Amino acid sequence: MIDPDKAIVCGACDLPVTCPTDPKPDDQVVCVRCGARDTYKDVWEACKKHIVHRLKSARERRASTARSGQGTADDNAQEPMFKWEIRD
Ligand SMILES: [Zn+2]
Repeated sequence: MIDPDKAIVCGACDLPVTCPTDPKPDDQVVCVRCGARDTYKDVWEACKKHIVHRLKSARERRASTARSGQGTADDNAQEPMFKWEIRD
């Protein structure tokens, strides 16, 4: 399901989480630092939202750059929190 070249990180700690090598939907994914845990299925749902958000914000950044011809203050906008994120 998740590309093995990408790592799941805890959104709060920004640290890679421990994940079984061949995860099943009900396997637990755990952040070793803050102890956050979810099933792999739920983590993957959160990661998909994160991916969609990243694609969307990249597109919006390009659009606003095209409009103004330069970067905007929106670059400093607060990123929404994701419980789980995916890293390239
Ligand atoms: Zn954490």
